[in-house]
Amino acid sequence: MIKIGVAGAAGKMGSRITALSADYAGLKLAGAFERNGHKDIGKDVGPLTGAGETGILLSEGIREIINNVDVIIDFSSIESTKANLKEASANKTAMVIGTTGFTKEDLAEIGPYLKEIPCVMASNMSLGVNLLFKVLQDVARVLGDDYDIEIVEAHHRLKKDAPSGTALKMAQVIAGAVGRDLDEVGVYARHGIIGARTKKEIGIQTVRAGDIVGEHTVLFGGLGERIEITHRASSRDTFARGALKAALWLAGKPAGLYDMQDVLGLK
Ligand code: NAD
Repeated sequence: MIKIGVAGAAGKMGSRITALSADYAGLKLAGAFERNGHKDIGKDVGPLTGAGETGILLSEGIREIINNVDVIIDFSSIESTKANLKEASANKTAMVIGTTGFTKEDLAEIGPYLKEIPCVMASNMSLGVNLLFKVLQDVARVLGDDYDIEIVEAHHRLKKDAPSGTALKMAQVIAGAVGRDLDEVGVYARHGIIGARTKKEIGIQTVRAGDIVGEHTVLFGGLGERIEITHRASSRDTFARGALKAALWLAGKPAGLYDMQDVLGLK
């Protein structure tokens, strides 16, 4: 039985991970924590997340639970995940990280800690999107430079980072497949007299509205035809279940950084 601890357990993702953990026979919810001063500290996390009583009380910070868990599942915020990773690394506790929006500087800072523990980190934990990462590479490779590549993503109004980590990962895998450097060809905004589209640019556009869980369309536009590949998440449960699968998969793995392609056997 693998004991999990959930970071940001009162948040949109953390609460679904906490509630759904009961469905997995190999997992046991052993801890849940929130930021200092959260209004629900000390309450049973079951009713807080829409499930029955669990006997697990919401803790204040990672230190109260780190010694009682095998894997921390963290969908919180960049600063919080960086701090939690440092604690987990010092304790040799495995992690599943779903937080998005890390800059190159953030990744350079956390790189050494990520190597100390078994860790699955992925900007999107759904099976559908991870399958698409694979499919998009093939499509881009076949179509090559003759088709314009545009990515449009839409998320709920509260999402903090843009474009989404998933849209960026899609852009990276496509750029890799057609031999381009995303830092050079990524176009994140267009306004005014912008002139003709350059052949190699990859457009990545962001929509923020209402309660959209997450939508990504990749458009390959040629002369006389276009291909659109769309993924729509209708519930956060797809990401939560992916994270719980990742926690199960991590059991017994050597220290190192893994992604959902590893977990789902897509490599
Ligand atoms: P949210 O704001 O609803 O939840 C974040 C929670 O973390 C909040 O309850 C907040 O109080 C808590 N938190 C903040 N600091 C903390 C700390 N120091 N210790 C413990 N808890 C702390 O956000 P959300 O929609 O659940 O998303 C969280 C993250 O997950 C975002 O980065 C989002 O982009 C990402 N996300 C990833 C995937 C994926 O599949 N990888 C899917 C959805 C969302």
